[in-house]
Amino acid sequence: MNRLQPDYYDTFTCIAGDCPITCCQEWKISVDDDTARHWKKLAPPEDVEVQKKNLNAYTIRKDGERVIGLTPDHKCPFLSRNKLCKLVRAYGDTVLSATCQDFPREFLRFRTHEEASLMAACPAVVDLWQKLGTLTFPEPAQSDLSSERIRILFRLRSESIRLLEDSRQAQRPLEEALLELSYILQELNRADSPEDTRVTEYFAPASRTQLRRAMADIELPPLDTLEECNELLQDLAVNYRKEGLYPTYLDPVIARAEALSEGYDPVVLSGQWAGFQKDFTTWRPLLYAYLENELYSGLLLPGSHPDLETLLLHLEWISLTYAVIRHSLFLVWLGNREAPLSYEAVRNYLVILNRMTGYNEEDILEYLENSFEDPLWDWGYFALILGR
Ligand code: SF4
Repeated sequence: MNRLQPDYYDTFTCIAGDCPITCCQEWKISVDDDTARHWKKLAPPEDVEVQKKNLNAYTIRKDGERVIGLTPDHKCPFLSRNKLCKLVRAYGDTVLSATCQDFPREFLRFRTHEEASLMAACPAVVDLWQKLGTLTFPEPAQSDLSSERIRILFRLRSESIRLLEDSRQAQRPLEEALLELSYILQELNRADSPEDTRVTEYFAPASRTQLRRAMADIELPPLDTLEECNELLQDLAVNYRKEGLYPTYLDPVIARAEALSEGYDPVVLSGQWAGFQKDFTTWRPLLYAYLENELYSGLLLPGSHPDLETLLLHLEWISLTYAVIRHSLFLVWLGNREAPLSYEAVRNYLVILNRMTGYNEEDILEYLENSFEDPLWDWGYFALILGR
């Protein structure tokens, strides 16, 4: 099967012992059936602290899947003190479950081809994006695609990525690009069928300029955006905090989020938000690279019947994740007495928030259904959480 991958894909290497936020802790590490069967025949390496009869005995069932049972301090029992894997040392790479072997690689298996990319939930991937600045994403040949409907969906994905690339080159705010994109996709969804001529017309530079002008006249009060993002962040963090996960990152920002929920001086907060936005533009190129990658790997997923509505739901999730990352960094910036954000802070919150929101498609839909009256937002909600 033909495989496509972005230009940066082959340059990734796991930094293992030097990793600042290893994936071997505070996470669900899935163990597939083949690995579990194999693990029943293997004894734990001698240096694993708690000795059990075989490797499979270290797995548990969680949320309907088999995962490695973490230690009381939320670490993989096979993680050594110097952040290396005791299983790899004893048995080599092939002993690992598919999740451990693949991460942070992500594979989308479409009927016609496979696409590989890397996830933002790994700090070494974010380092790569920061170093490279621009990323290139290959698209399947239109003649390879299985139906007209699928062909249009792939076209919409590549137009979406191109819209972000254009906005990056024009140094426009990311929020503006996401608002344009959500508006265009919603309009196309409302049309009977998003055929080629309509897609060309909606994504044309002249239509987009007109759209931006119209959007500029809409009032988007920043304090409303802050309040909504503040609620979203606290809501997303509830279960992680109950389980005691990511305390280094979540505790300080949630304490500030709770204080903000209790009340604030609107004049002071508006000034602080304006100051933060100015500082935050430093990270625009990295965040564009991140979002372009998210569109490539998250807008169109293989499934029984992908359509424009599912594309929009995925765009909602991508936008929501971006909004809470930005809000967390605003709270970090406030906590640091408004000193410029460090690269490490930006990277670490990108990683943690992506781990927290890295749900599968079913869970995303469940979250949207439980949290909103209609999981398919109107454009005003995109505008509320993204602001400008
Ligand atoms: S998070 Fe990335 S760099 Fe860190 S240990 Fe995991 S794969 Fe390696």
